[in-house]
Amino acid sequence: MFVTFEGGEGAGKSTQVARLAERLRRGGREVVTTREPGGSPRAEQIRTALLAGAAKPYGPFAEALLFSAARLDHLDTLIRPALARGAVVLCDRFADSTRAYQGAAGGVDPEGVAALERIVVGRTRPDLTLILDLPAEAGLARARRRDLGSARGPDRFEAEALSFHQRLREAFRAIAAAEPRRCALIDAAGDPDAVAAAVRATVAGRLPG
Ligand code: C5P
Repeated sequence: MFVTFEGGEGAGKSTQVARLAERLRRGGREVVTTREPGGSPRAEQIRTALLAGAAKPYGPFAEALLFSAARLDHLDTLIRPALARGAVVLCDRFADSTRAYQGAAGGVDPEGVAALERIVVGRTRPDLTLILDLPAEAGLARARRRDLGSARGPDRFEAEALSFHQRLREAFRAIAAAEPRRCALIDAAGDPDAVAAAVRATVAGRLPG
């Protein structure tokens, strides 16, 4: 089963991926946790090239191509083999982030984004996508607190204007509304325990066997 977590900055995706993984492992399942951009050694190199520094090194469509190249390597080397042996794969961001960041918020033609997704993702679409939703201001405040407490400074996406983050939120909500069979919108404004409970309840209803 392929489960992806999506949402804006500071939505708590990585915390929720870790908590769900622990829960499923206790239930005896093989769980692979991973993230995008990155997730495989070559894709992590592309991540570094995209996120380092304050400047935008590429235009939005070149960026969409690079995220897609990273995704293809990640799918081929990690995700598809894990799914083929029956593991549950939990991925922090996936193709919906390209739709939202480079497409809706970044201005790349949605047709182009959709074409890339068809080529790269093909039939390896997520069985379930948990969209962690909270107001952009609240997410950014969380992301800034997290960055203060770590060596990781804000990346250039976090430094975008508030309106960019508001467009992102709307884009993720629109994806959830358009694909209700695949997506579940989770209220991520509460504390991590409350969000984890909502994630658990959603997954329990969808997990085979
Ligand atoms: O989730 P995480 O904060 O690790 O993501 C790294 C950065 O990459 C984020 O700031 C996110 O905004 C950006 N990103 C992006 N387009 C994607 C995926 C991630 O701009 N398709």
